[in-house]
Amino acid sequence: MIFWATFVIGKCLWYNDGMDRYNHLNKYLKNKFGERVLKICVDGNFSCPNRDGTCGVGGCIFCGLAGSGENIKYRLPEALSSIKNQIVCFLNSYRGERANKFIVYFQNHTNTYDTIDSLKARYDMALSCSEKIIGLQIATRPDCIDMEIVNLLKSYQDKYAVIVELGLQTCNDEIGNAINRGYTTADFIDAVNLLHTNGIAVVAHVMVGLPGENVDDICNTIDLLSSLKVDGVKIHSTYVTSDTVLYNMYNAGVYTPITQDYYVDMVCNIIARMSPDIIIHRINADPPRELFIAPDWMLHKKLVLNAINRELDVRNIYQGCNYSQK
Ligand code: SF4
Repeated sequence: MIFWATFVIGKCLWYNDGMDRYNHLNKYLKNKFGERVLKICVDGNFSCPNRDGTCGVGGCIFCGLAGSGENIKYRLPEALSSIKNQIVCFLNSYRGERANKFIVYFQNHTNTYDTIDSLKARYDMALSCSEKIIGLQIATRPDCIDMEIVNLLKSYQDKYAVIVELGLQTCNDEIGNAINRGYTTADFIDAVNLLHTNGIAVVAHVMVGLPGENVDDICNTIDLLSSLKVDGVKIHSTYVTSDTVLYNMYNAGVYTPITQDYYVDMVCNIIARMSPDIIIHRINADPPRELFIAPDWMLHKKLVLNAINRELDVRNIYQGCNYSQK
């Protein structure tokens, strides 16, 4: 009787972790490398052309002063130190005991925005920190990728997995202008093609809940990514932090964050519509509590994940079940 009650309660609390409904990054990495692989997030002390006046000022409206890497900056004291120190601190902590293989992930700001010599020095420094490092992942903007940078990244491919992360957020250039993105969707397409032609994997960022966005924009964005055959996608909900232009818009009542129900619905639609070949790196964001303003539901990451996975089950959605090649 007790066993049966425990079983029933357990079943009620159990939820599908999504592993069998979409191409989950963890599963992909385990298959590819034969064991668990973790990322070491690094602040490489880069800047951004959308902040220093080269292509814009103020940055994308949702981006804070840490350059979309707040959790490194605000949660880890070592992030204020050198690249080497950040990585060594990570590997010497409990986090370094959770796996034997690691990918160094340059996260904050635009990590290809410097001279080639300086980029090489920073990447080399990171990769030389440990034999356990098997990959280099670089977050950047499409307009900060050129042949010289591609050649540098290619030079690491014999020994390391090399992945470039590009922000797209939306394929609608009007919304791109409204969020002060500072590059066009055509720039994004050119960068993806250049990277792919040279054998470098691309992960694209997509945001749900941008000002003025509608369901068609989201569908078109996913269709574009599927047609470009990007290797991976990160899906985020838009949120407001206190050091952003979006915060001013939120305060002025001209931006209203989306609800959890809307987000869950959109993520399910995205997964259904996306090419089954794409690896999904994440389906929600991890906002920095220190700066977070809204929407409140986003602070409960586990509940949001549960809600998405439950909805995938209820609607019997598998990645690509509504995908149509165009
Ligand atoms: S390009 Fe990236 S780092 Fe630069 S402002 Fe936009 S989100 Fe922030």
